[in-house]
Order: sequence, then structure tokens, then C-alpha cells
Amino acid sequence: MKQVYIETMGCQMNKSDTERMLGMLAHFNYVETKEPHEADLLMINTCSIRQLSEDKAFSAIGLWGKWKKHKPDLKIGFCGCVAQQKAEGILKRCPYVDFVLGTHTIYRLPDIIKRINQGERVCECEETHKTEADKEKDYEIKRVKSVNAWIPITEGCNNFCTYCIVPYTRGRERSREPEIIIKEAQDALNQGFKEITLLGQNVDSYGKDFKDKSYRLAQLLRDLNALEGNFRIRFVTSYPTDITDELIDTVVELDKVCEYFHIPMQSGSTPVLKAMNRRYDRETYAAIVKKVRDRVKDVTITSDFIAGFPGETEEQFVETLTAIDEFELDYSNTAAYSPREKTVAAKWVDKYIPEDVKTKRLARLNEQVRINCLKSNQKFIGREMEVLIEGFENHKGQNVITGRTRNNKIVHIPCDKDLTGEFVNVKITGAKTWYVNGELLNAEYDKISTSTAAAN
Ligand code: SF4
Repeated sequence: MKQVYIETMGCQMNKSDTERMLGMLAHFNYVETKEPHEADLLMINTCSIRQLSEDKAFSAIGLWGKWKKHKPDLKIGFCGCVAQQKAEGILKRCPYVDFVLGTHTIYRLPDIIKRINQGERVCECEETHKTEADKEKDYEIKRVKSVNAWIPITEGCNNFCTYCIVPYTRGRERSREPEIIIKEAQDALNQGFKEITLLGQNVDSYGKDFKDKSYRLAQLLRDLNALEGNFRIRFVTSYPTDITDELIDTVVELDKVCEYFHIPMQSGSTPVLKAMNRRYDRETYAAIVKKVRDRVKDVTITSDFIAGFPGETEEQFVETLTAIDEFELDYSNTAAYSPREKTVAAKWVDKYIPEDVKTKRLARLNEQVRINCLKSNQKFIGREMEVLIEGFENHKGQNVITGRTRNNKIVHIPCDKDLTGEFVNVKITGAKTWYVNGELLNAEYDKISTSTAAAN
């Protein structure tokens, strides 16, 4: 057996690709190690969403390159979004790298392993020469042990938001066949996973590229909901204007689909949204959020925002803060604008916001998110909710189990027994900024619940 270490950066899509690559490598007798020093094959699965992540990737791989002096048989692979973007340039820049593998071509990995073992240096990023190796084969997926299995349903994006690198690194939008997704979900359930999260840059456009235009996300959810067993289904990410009435009704109708939507707004200002090439204005976004809230009881709606987009004025930035508050967004991911090569906005150098202004805006944005998150959590104090337990730890001397409600609230519960993977009923007793506290209600757990005191 040989050992492989994969450093995974960035989003859940990369984590999912890593699980697939580990499955392919298992065919070549590679087992995963968490210790890079022990590995015969080192791989980095990179993210290019911000310059900082790209810089980190090159710095990590530079260190690995030095190890080759003492371990000449060591192989090094550079994968993911930066690989897709820079391709051959990486082989030139980093002479110690044995292969570069893009996001469109991960199924060529078995072929690449054979070639590098014969001494070749390989770059496989081009989709243009489709080969047999590009086909998704029935490789086992080496999933990270957890209660939640991530399953990509779409890959790539057609939207070309002016700040975003994804259409260049992940390509045009492609939907995966429903049969493959359903099989992966069934396999994950058979392995004991309790939650399936469908993944894509824009899951709501699932099926737009199929011949049969009637098979969309709502139908996929129905087919998954029909699988046997007690489990949950989630889906991320939704593009605001692609959320259909049928999808909202389906979430309400299906018992396993959770009351949770992640709907990135990016800015609260209509002119900034236009400059970002988002296909909605502030009012349209507000109407979508209202529609979802009116129909889906207890729904949690989360979002993403960028601070300091080129040309953003102070007034326009304040509109982002008011949007978070006015639309009662439960939580938001935030980032300062980071120019990315090839994107339209990166060329607007004369409109760049100074770094110190961006930093201050990001801090104000984070403070608004914090305020809203706490308000959102406080709404659930006193409620009884179902929680899927995800972990067990000793927190400041007290044993605590942690899980999520259907609407994605993180709950900390004092309990001496590890109930990971179990569904429990919990009364919410208190709210913190990023989580709520609860106490177990299930009679069978009475003896193991240590106290009803707050878990923090
Ligand atoms: S919709 Fe999302 S992934 Fe697609 S270009 Fe816009 S920000 Fe990027």
C-alpha cells in the first residue's frame, strides 16, 4: 500500500472532488494519511476565489518541493481551481510538480498516476479532447466520516457575475444524471449518513441542460425523498431569481427536505448589483425572500455579501447593511472584494476601493451579520425542535452534544453520551450569536442528560 495526503482548500465542491479522487486512488492501492511527511503522493486541491488562497497553495507546494531532495520518489500533484486556471504555467513555475489536474478532468486521475509512475510530467486541464477517461466511472467515494454527505448535482456556472472566477475555473453549467445522484444518495444512506446535501453553484438551474426539461430540482427532491429511512435533505446554493414557486412548494410538501435556503444577495444596492451582473435588484430580492418566508414555516434564509466592490460608495455600502436587517437574513458569509484575473470587475482598477476602506466596511458588515444572527437565534428560545446530532465534545469541563435543527440552527446540548447520528427532540433554552443552547426532551435520554444548564 502507498499513502496519499490531500490538502483541500476552499469550498464544499473541492471537498467533494477530494472524496472522489481518494476513491479513484484506492484502485491504485493508495490509502489516505493525515500526515504529509508519511505520504508517497502529495496533492493540493486549490481554491482561486481569493488571491490569499492562491498564494497559500503555492507556498504549501513550495515546501513540499523541498522534501523531494530527501525523498526522490515522492510525487506531487496540483489540482483544483488554480490548476484549471494556470494549467501548464504551474509545471513551468514549479519544477517539482509531477502533475496538474483541472476541475473539468478529475476522472483522468487514474491515467495520470500511471503516467507519472513512468516518469512523465503531466498537465490535464483541457476538456476539449474528451477521452474515455473523462467519463464518470463507478469509483467508490471515500467520504469523510460525518452525518452529512455532500452530493454535487450541478457543476460550473453560466452567470458570469463580474467579480467571480467560477465560470472560468469550473466551466459552463452541467447537471449530473439523476440516476447517478440517487445512487450516490442511496450508497451514503447505506453507509449510515443521515443527511444528504445537494451541491452546486446554482442548484435551482438543475436540469436546464437536459433534453427532458421537465426534470428539475423539484423532481430530484421528490425522488430522493422517496428513498427509505429517516434522513434529511438540503440543497445549496440558490440563485435568487431561479427559485421557482414549484421548488418552494416542494420544500413545504416533502417531509425530508429541510426548511433552509442559502440565497446570496452580494449587495443591497441596485446599482452595485447591476455592476456585478446579478440579474435582480434590491426589490426583486426582497420579494423572493418574502415569498419563501410566507410559504415555508420557520425557514432560515442565509446569504453572501461582498464589501468594497469596485465603485461601491459609502451610501451603497450602507444599503447592504440595511438589507441584512430589513430582510431579516439569519446569517451571511462575508468577504472583502478580491480582484480575480480574467473577471470583468478586475479590470476596473480606477474604481478599486482602498484596502483600509474595504477592511473597515468588512468589519461593519460582520457586525451587522452578528447582530442579525443573534436576533434570529433568540426567536427560537422556548421552542421544541428536532436536532440531528453531529458531534460530542467536552466543552469547558462539560460534556456537550452538538447538532442542527431542520432549519440549520446549531444547537449545543449538555449530555454525557455521544449521540452522533441520532435525531433527538430538544427544547431551546438560550441563544448565543452563532448557536443556541438546548436541553434534551426525549424520555429515553433522561438519565444521560447531565443538566438543563446552558451548555456554554
Ligand atoms: S452565480 Fe455564483 S458561481 Fe456563478 S458567476 Fe455568479 S457568483 Fe460565481
